[in-house]
Amino acid sequence: MAPLTNGKVPKSTTMHSKVVIIGSGPAGHTAAVYLARANLNPVLFEGFMANGFAAGGQLTTTTDVENYPGFPSGILGPELMDKFREQSIRFGTQIITETVSKIDLSARPFRYWRESQEYEEPETADTIIIATGASAKRLGLKGEVTYWQSGISACAVCDGAVPIFRNQPLAVIGGGDSAAEEATYLTKYGSHVYVLVRRSELRASKIMAKRLMNNPKISILWNTVATECQGDGDLLKNLRIKNVTTGEERDLPVRGLFYAIGHEPATALVRSQLQTDPDGYIITVPGTTQTSVKGVFAAGDVQDKRYRQAITSAGSGCMAALEAERLIAEEEEGIEED
Ligand code: FAD
Ligand code: NAP
Repeated sequence: MAPLTNGKVPKSTTMHSKVVIIGSGPAGHTAAVYLARANLNPVLFEGFMANGFAAGGQLTTTTDVENYPGFPSGILGPELMDKFREQSIRFGTQIITETVSKIDLSARPFRYWRESQEYEEPETADTIIIATGASAKRLGLKGEVTYWQSGISACAVCDGAVPIFRNQPLAVIGGGDSAAEEATYLTKYGSHVYVLVRRSELRASKIMAKRLMNNPKISILWNTVATECQGDGDLLKNLRIKNVTTGEERDLPVRGLFYAIGHEPATALVRSQLQTDPDGYIITVPGTTQTSVKGVFAAGDVQDKRYRQAITSAGSGCMAALEAERLIAEEEEGIEED
């Protein structure tokens, strides 16, 4: 068993890897476990506050994770990610606590650089798995920082069932499919759900919009934005809202506020080199993690705008590992792929 001492691994100009994983959430670590068990000696860059997250990713910013299978009593997000990391190392993954800040995918082997070393000789890899994740967009409202995760969340599926929201009035901000889905989901727990839409129409698809508007536990507040989150210092108790047409401001006493205004995929590193959709998500061949560049795979939230869950990220990390492993094996055997 490899010791748990990975972290600060000095850069080596001669470092060449069969596979490098960039990102340390459930997708990156699952890929690492599979690749390490396949004796491919994966190197995983876990980042140093990359994209604003500690190594381990988005789950390091939350408390109880209750929907990750295998933990019937739930598990704290940071603890779950420590276990992912431990399992990656157990099978021999080399984890490097640095951020990859520059990459050249124009030819193989691919070349990449660590942060602050962009003008030095690059390191190289035959295949790369991009698992850099995403982050929920926030509004920056007054009081948002105080009540973030104390009444405010960006994931109804993750947090909707917590006791503070049970039988309480809740609010969702957004008018897209996520807002429709999250508001509908929250009606299982809240007494009533208000959806704040900044325009006089929804962006959501017709079927989702219809479902939203026909739900008796949901009220849509058109042309409405939030201006301030208020509470008792511990928990959110009230939202100040404003009708942007009339200018009227009023209180909306809610105990939960869910942002559904979109996510930002962490694709700045590769956006000009890989095919992405208009929102910046990496496009993969349907049913696979293959990107527009042969030998580059994408897994987790960076390529998934729809599900954005730890388990789906882990699942796509597994796919990326198996696809990278297959490509490496075929190339070693001299079999040409399409
Ligand atoms: P992420 O978790 O986003 O991690 C990516 C990591 O890669 C980050 O650590 C980042 O620093 C690193 N990185 C980025 N760029 C670089 C780079 N250039 N070089 C090196 N490293 C880099 N899901 C659930 O299933 N259940 C829940 O209960 C749940 N609760 C949540 C609560 C909160 C508050 C949040 C924000 C999310 C929650 N989620 C939950 C969603 C879940 O966290 C994500 O779906 C999942 O973490 C995505 O995993 P990922 O592997 O794609 O990457
Ligand atoms: P989205 O489609 O980009 O919608 C974001 C919504 O938030 C829009 O209504 C937008 O308003 C609003 N918004 C953005 N910034 C705002 C701000 N500062 N203040 C107030 N409101 C703001 O994002 P999404 O709903 O997360 O969906 C992303 C993608 O995933 C879409 O392609 C969607 O179809 C897909 N998706 C599908 C499903 C499903 O089919 N089950 C579920 C979830 C997501 P405007 O309309 O005024 O811009």
